[in-house]
Amino acid sequence: NILLNVAGLSAAVDEKVILHDVDLTVGAGETHVLMGPNGAGKSTLGHVVMGDPEYTVTGGKITFNGQDITDLSTDKRSHAGLFLSFQAPVEIPGVPVSSFLRAISAGRPGVGDMKGKQFRKHVKELAEELNMDPAYLDRELGVGFSGGEKKKLEMLQLLLLEPKLAFLDETDSGLDVDALSVVSRGMEVYRKRCNGTLVIITHNTRILEHVDVNRVHVLVKGRMTAEGDASMIADIDENGFEQFEQAAAAAA
Ligand code: ADP
Ligand code: MG
Ligand code: MG
Repeated sequence: NILLNVAGLSAAVDEKVILHDVDLTVGAGETHVLMGPNGAGKSTLGHVVMGDPEYTVTGGKITFNGQDITDLSTDKRSHAGLFLSFQAPVEIPGVPVSSFLRAISAGRPGVGDMKGKQFRKHVKELAEELNMDPAYLDRELGVGFSGGEKKKLEMLQLLLLEPKLAFLDETDSGLDVDALSVVSRGMEVYRKRCNGTLVIITHNTRILEHVDVNRVHVLVKGRMTAEGDASMIADIDENGFEQFEQAAAAAA
């Protein structure tokens, strides 16, 4: 049961081609990990799948849940059930996290129909499920957020919107133990309760310790150069990406 199929995808920004002929197939309910050196194009792939207008698709096709979404707006993709965590979320002084969550829920089945009181209760329960301090919901959106606090916001968004498939793009900066635990817990709840499908972009293999990974994909210089099972993670941890760079160079 294929949920996402990326076939022969090439994409460019300002004439510069970043992704070359990329294939990626993700089945419903699976957890995939996308790895690769800095600058390989991992975040770009997430953004292109999400329809970020900054990038131009120069070839290939993206199919989601049986529908060709290659030319769909980001908003329509989001409503179709795609979610991308953003490395740099917005900062809006004066707007509490809870109001932001309310705003993004509008028009969504379930959460979008909730009355104010019911919604607040629901959000509070999600925060508790993530072992988060409910005081976080009253914080001003993004203002003075640490890397970990940004990640917590993403996990709340994830559990609130219950997308069919989520790209979780890790911050390059390290997360503290508290944030790591919220992220792990968020992924677990999303997978189990929502039967969620995940594509995790990460350097931080610690975050994967408690996750059952179905498939690992390695992107080098904008090309998919290797794919395998979860054992690749330990291999990459030990030996790095040099082993794939020759293949990427040969394909160029
Ligand atoms: P990764 O997430 O694997 O570290 P990125 O997708 O962020 O890699 O970047 C891949 C390459 O594309 C880099 O060389 C980066 O500078 C370039 N790139 C990505 N987005 C843009 C953009 N909006 N404008 C210009 N260059 C970009
Ligand atoms: Mg990067
Ligand atoms: Mg990145």
